[in-house]
Amino acid sequence: MAVFARAPGLPRVAWARGVEVVDTDGRRYLDASGGAVVVGVGHGVEEVVEAAAAQARRVAYVHGTAFGSDVLEEYAAELAPLLPLDDPAVYPVSGGSEAVETALKMARAYHLARGEDRWVVVGREHSYHGNSRGALDVSGRAALRAPYLPWLGPAVHTSTPQEYRCGFDTHPHGCGLRHAERLEQTIADAGPERVAAFVAEPVAGAGLAACVPPEDYWPAVVEVCRRHGVLVVADEVMTGFGRTGRWFASEHFGMRPDLLTAGKGAASGYWPLGLAVASGEVHETIGDGGLVHGFTYSHHAVGAATGLAVLRRLRDHGLVGAAEERGAQLAGLLRERLGDHPWVGDVRGAGLLVGVELVEDRGSRTPFPRSRRVTEQLLAAAKELGLLLYPAAGCADGSRGDAVLLGPPLVISAAEVEQVV
Ligand code: PLP
Repeated sequence: MAVFARAPGLPRVAWARGVEVVDTDGRRYLDASGGAVVVGVGHGVEEVVEAAAAQARRVAYVHGTAFGSDVLEEYAAELAPLLPLDDPAVYPVSGGSEAVETALKMARAYHLARGEDRWVVVGREHSYHGNSRGALDVSGRAALRAPYLPWLGPAVHTSTPQEYRCGFDTHPHGCGLRHAERLEQTIADAGPERVAAFVAEPVAGAGLAACVPPEDYWPAVVEVCRRHGVLVVADEVMTGFGRTGRWFASEHFGMRPDLLTAGKGAASGYWPLGLAVASGEVHETIGDGGLVHGFTYSHHAVGAATGLAVLRRLRDHGLVGAAEERGAQLAGLLRERLGDHPWVGDVRGAGLLVGVELVEDRGSRTPFPRSRRVTEQLLAAAKELGLLLYPAAGCADGSRGDAVLLGPPLVISAAEVEQVV
């Protein structure tokens, strides 16, 4: 029987601790990928494993999966002060795509509750927001959207307006990320009274290999959105929970989004957990009956217990500050040792989310042709050397390009950073 189980090329892991992974043949690897940029607290942290196991026992023996648990309230109470939203309301789910899907639904529900029929969601060029229907719709990569729309389109258009997905913050010469003024135009083109939300990663990890926008980008974006009544959705699935050296990357820019999504680092990969978070204003406007929310496994107590243990570990071990320090060391060393390499177009990032963009020609930032499979070759060569890396999309010349993303567990030491480089 076929099973779609593992990405090709990954080692068969026998055990893992901290940033070290050992495969079934006894080969050691340094994990600079954090899985899929997921593992924050490090591999094999016993107190997190124990919290998950203890809660699983409670679920099985005491209250059963269907009856909820106080641990959800406990988790939300400890998380709330760390979130960059005013008076946040937390909607737990099982992963990043569900979080994005929930946030998009909430944006629509918010406007409906205010008597406005807004449904267009503006995304950004090259972005990635997950693999579910709404998340693919707002994806900034035509290759992700295209195969599904003709198939899903006719079936859903009766209930979902076609323009649910919309134009993008694009720019012909480079990454749209750097051009906030394009958003104004995109909203104008779509019809401002129809636009429900703008969704983007504060630091573009999944889409653009750790692109950090200039300091004035987010204030300008937020101003445009507020002026048009458009909700700001910060997709922090990759950047949340300390990855960029702040609890949430929105903090780098003093940003207070209306909605935020998280996943990956929330439970550090020990259990599937995602979060959609609404500001108090959005939550209260939607009201009790305004949103159909909930999946069988959203609100799962093991997710909340694991998330709580991860949060405490990050907080009590100072791992968010460590990410800032180690990230600066990692990016600095990469620039020092690779900065002059003819194939390295850029080294950039925030905290322990560091991207290396690969180009055929450094001067013109010309990307390699896809047929060269440069990222795949680099990943395979690094693996041979005992280093695990994560593939990402670059952004040279506005095209997809090649890039690798370094997102090691936040517990990486100074000596281990030296080994990566
Ligand atoms: N949003 C971003 C920014 C992501 O990086 C990802 C996953 O890579 C997702 C959403 C989707 O999360 P998941 O794969 O947990 O569904």
